[in-house]
Amino acid sequence: MTRPNPPLEIHNLEVRYGAYTALQHLNLTVNPGEMVVLLGANGAGKSTLFRTLAGLQRPANGTASYGQSLTNGKPEQCVSLGVALCPEGRLLFPALSVEKNLRLGAYPHRRDSVGNEAQLKRVYALFPDLVKKAPDAAGSLSGGQQQMVAVGRALMARPTLLLLDEPSLGLAPLVVEQVFGAIEQVNQSGVSVLLAEQNAYAALAIADRGYVLESGQVTLEGSRAMLMNDDRVRSAYLGV
Ligand code: ATP
Repeated sequence: MTRPNPPLEIHNLEVRYGAYTALQHLNLTVNPGEMVVLLGANGAGKSTLFRTLAGLQRPANGTASYGQSLTNGKPEQCVSLGVALCPEGRLLFPALSVEKNLRLGAYPHRRDSVGNEAQLKRVYALFPDLVKKAPDAAGSLSGGQQQMVAVGRALMARPTLLLLDEPSLGLAPLVVEQVFGAIEQVNQSGVSVLLAEQNAYAALAIADRGYVLESGQVTLEGSRAMLMNDDRVRSAYLGV
């Protein structure tokens, strides 16, 4: 049974760390089935936004909803609404096997072993490199393979909205292509995606629309074509 994705709607979001304001007046939407990129340099606030959407950080003001509110400080409720976060830096359990790391992502569906086996098959089909590595310690894999495990673990929660925090960080161009190809397939299967990236080339190549985040504020938004042709994006993120 498929349930239609709701939109992700963020209104006037403000997040603080003590006296420091990390996000302010932030408005952002991901429509059902869209792939939206969030471009921003180090410290722009991308991870803060994702942690907030995953229920790990409470906002000082504003709202974020995905069918229901995401900002009441209950991460398990965000997961149950269909939101999964693949965090920056992967945060795998390095001593556990690849397969155990993947299965941890299925915790919300722990009573549905049939569904979990089917989802595990889909993840292995998406990342065939992981099949042979299944029994190996996750920490023994290459950076690219570890990123595949991190994305796969998020997918094991069977999200309808996938939040990806800098999945290309530190990866070789060929591996970025592989990981982004998989993300594109996931999106084409109907999963909405919000993708935070500094690698604007790779992200804009697969996104429908995007936002530029600077010092906690959205300074630009538009279609992929508009952003690719914008002089500020070209000089800050595309290096041209
Ligand atoms: P990066 O890719 O470097 O992680 P980012 O765009 O994800 O960058 P955030 O990690 O969200 O940015 O950080 C936004 C701002 O909030 C930065 O100035 C950062 O120093 C600050 N910040 C992040 N976490 C905390 C925290 N726990 N306490 C205080 N300040 C924080």
